[in-house]
Amino acid sequence: MQKYQKAIKENVCAICVDSDENGNCTLTADETCAVIHYLPQIVDIIHNSGTDDIQIYKEKINETICSNCKTQENSGYCHLREDVNCSVERYFRFIVETIQNVDEGII
Ligand code: SF4
Ligand code: SF4
Repeated sequence: MQKYQKAIKENVCAICVDSDENGNCTLTADETCAVIHYLPQIVDIIHNSGTDDIQIYKEKINETICSNCKTQENSGYCHLREDVNCSVERYFRFIVETIQNVDEGII
């Protein structure tokens, strides 16, 4: 998992609105980044979905991660998703590309 964490830091944190000019995360100790928190499950979904279809990954993220995330309401509504304010939601394409690039040895 370490190689994925490192690649996420270099490729996603670097462009995240919640990072400083050096790519360091500015979230406080009370805040949780969903990308980091759910990274093992995200990697697992990409590895075990049997497809390269990013839309399928997204559906599986919603089914397995969001459904157990405390931010999502019982109705399925998530205010962070709605506001594109969840890092998984906001950078999903970059996250998928980063994980695939690690797997292919590109980064
Ligand atoms: S919020 Fe998440 S993706 Fe953004 S800089 Fe912090 S750790 Fe990286
Ligand atoms: S979109 Fe909402 S429910 Fe899904 S991981 Fe992000 S904060 Fe949690």
